[in-house]
Amino acid sequence: APSIDITAVRARFPVLHQQVNGYPLVYFDNAATTQKPQQVIDALTRYYNDYNANIHRGIHTLAEHATADFEATRKAVQAFIHAREAEEIIFTSGTTGGINLVAQTYGRTFLKKGDEVIISTMEHHSNIVPWQLVCEQTGAVLKVIPITTSGELILDEYKKLLSDKTRLVSVVYASNALGTVNPVNTVIRLAHEAGAKVLIDAAQAVVHCPVDVQEMDCDFLVFSGHKLYGPTGMGILYGKRELLEAMPPYQGGGEMISEVTFARTTFNELPYKFEAGTPNIGDVIAMKRALEFVSNLGKPAIAAHEAQLLERITAGLQDIPGIRIIGTAPHKIGVVSFVVEGLHHFDLGMMLDAKGIAIRTGHHCTQPLMDFLGIEGTNRASFAVYNTPEEVDYFLDTVGQIVRKRKK
Ligand code: PMP
Repeated sequence: APSIDITAVRARFPVLHQQVNGYPLVYFDNAATTQKPQQVIDALTRYYNDYNANIHRGIHTLAEHATADFEATRKAVQAFIHAREAEEIIFTSGTTGGINLVAQTYGRTFLKKGDEVIISTMEHHSNIVPWQLVCEQTGAVLKVIPITTSGELILDEYKKLLSDKTRLVSVVYASNALGTVNPVNTVIRLAHEAGAKVLIDAAQAVVHCPVDVQEMDCDFLVFSGHKLYGPTGMGILYGKRELLEAMPPYQGGGEMISEVTFARTTFNELPYKFEAGTPNIGDVIAMKRALEFVSNLGKPAIAAHEAQLLERITAGLQDIPGIRIIGTAPHKIGVVSFVVEGLHHFDLGMMLDAKGIAIRTGHHCTQPLMDFLGIEGTNRASFAVYNTPEEVDYFLDTVGQIVRKRKK
């Protein structure tokens, strides 16, 4: 992949150019949320300055402009994940919103007592709790694919879990806590052979890994705009048309109807059936700029850059005594989790913040995974395209000094 001019990329992110506690900001919390390039911020401001209007209902000029831009993002998302049709792209509030939508419409309608839903040990809470809720409501049973201590799905165990009772498999593409990239194509193929549908949580993967929903043949795929250099409060649910058609609406309200009488309501067509009420118009519009930012740099080039940073930080951490890396799968996104012997992650997180370094500490919304690993939480550094080898070296120096000082 062609290499990226990181200095030029950094210049497009206003937030990066600041001091935190007297040190230049090193932002290594990208798995939580990425920073936003100027063109995303500008698109938001332009919408509110120039053509703020509600969409789909006005015939006036501003409403037409806003509607056109809103729908242009839908087409851009369709191209970005290579969906067959723009109508298969539903705007949600985020990954969490998308999973809950599928659980409460598809799940609630098609799951019966004794049916099984399969997730994995490394799921984010947002891919656990919605399934627990719908299992409670329907009498379906939740099954969990075990993982190795290095943080990889045990596919043989997965195969044993699959049966004619399996209705749905919902698995993360790339783990936010460990960085593991799962063999989702195999997961999907095996589920289909068992007659089950598959949802892929691409919250992390969508920005680092190839996502072609037709090639993957997943039934549903969800992600959030804010981890993809876009705004918070907007996300995407992709679903195959025939499944979305078969699902009842999620929420009732304006936009999602065709005709309402007090006796009976008919529902709007896809995608509007699932977009009740005034959506997050400004953020959806700005998301198009984020997709362009990623596409223009090229996902393979971004991934290659992040892989170099991952290799550098992993090697450096391994050289510091008392540090154990959590998640050692051979195929990882730019996420490194680690624990330090005798040093609580909250303490290290605070000491690093005092030096201008932002990492995430804690359970990363994966408590069952932490339980399996027998730890309470980790320190996690996660990369985006604007991070540099110099930042990694500064991080390693700082962590090394903290750890060595404590040992004396
Ligand atoms: N799944 C994964 C793998 C995630 O990393 C996250 C965010 N940390 C989510 C789901 C939830 O995303 P959101 O909070 O944007 O809905």
